[in-house]
Amino acid sequence: MRIVLVGPPGAGKGTQATRLAEKLNIPHISTGDLFRANISQQTELGKLAKSYMDAGNLVPDEVTIAMAKDRMEQPDAEGGFLLDGFPRNVSQAEALDELLTTEGIKLDAVLDLEAPEEEVVKRIAGRRICRNDSAHVFHVTYKKPAKEGVCDVCGGELYQRDDDSEATVRTRLEVYHTQTEPIIDYYKTQGLVVTIEAMGPVDEVTARALAALKREGDEN
Ligand code: AMP
Repeated sequence: MRIVLVGPPGAGKGTQATRLAEKLNIPHISTGDLFRANISQQTELGKLAKSYMDAGNLVPDEVTIAMAKDRMEQPDAEGGFLLDGFPRNVSQAEALDELLTTEGIKLDAVLDLEAPEEEVVKRIAGRRICRNDSAHVFHVTYKKPAKEGVCDVCGGELYQRDDDSEATVRTRLEVYHTQTEPIIDYYKTQGLVVTIEAMGPVDEVTARALAALKREGDEN
């Protein structure tokens, strides 16, 4: 399957993407994770991306599209992929369509994770992530690690992302509404959008997403 995951920051895209990719046996491609890997390796791309990310803005399309394309062309993505955080505006969605058309393939679904604004701000401001693996996510109130600052899964150090401060989250939400939400209409015209309620226990959200994807698959 080829799936795009959209939703505001803090809706649980990363968490759900990891789980869904595992269940569906397809690679999880997160442009945010790819940028963060470039930042920690101090590449030129990382240096460029960091200034935009820290401010809560989108990294320019040209470099983002090139990076996503490069990742989608890796052998493990031949049979399908789950895109998390890409596309994030209409021109990226158009670039993705072009790429898919060239390859003679299509998206199967666009999963839209819905969550109320105040909830996502609370989720993000308290979020702590493991330095070893961004899939190990904790929260200072909702999902406390057994030992403060230490990952329960692997013992790694937990940190707060530079762009998870409350002020930056407000900017990211604004960017989401003005630039990313229009892609939902773009994909609605292609009949691809499946909306999922992203609140509630993580397992239930995953189950809702899998059930919705199965329905889509049966219908198409
Ligand atoms: P995420 O991990 O998906 O929340 O992304 C973190 C940050 O990386 C975003 O706030 C953007 O600054 C940048 N980013 C990730 N994906 C994209 C994209 N598709 N286009 C532009 N910037 C992106």
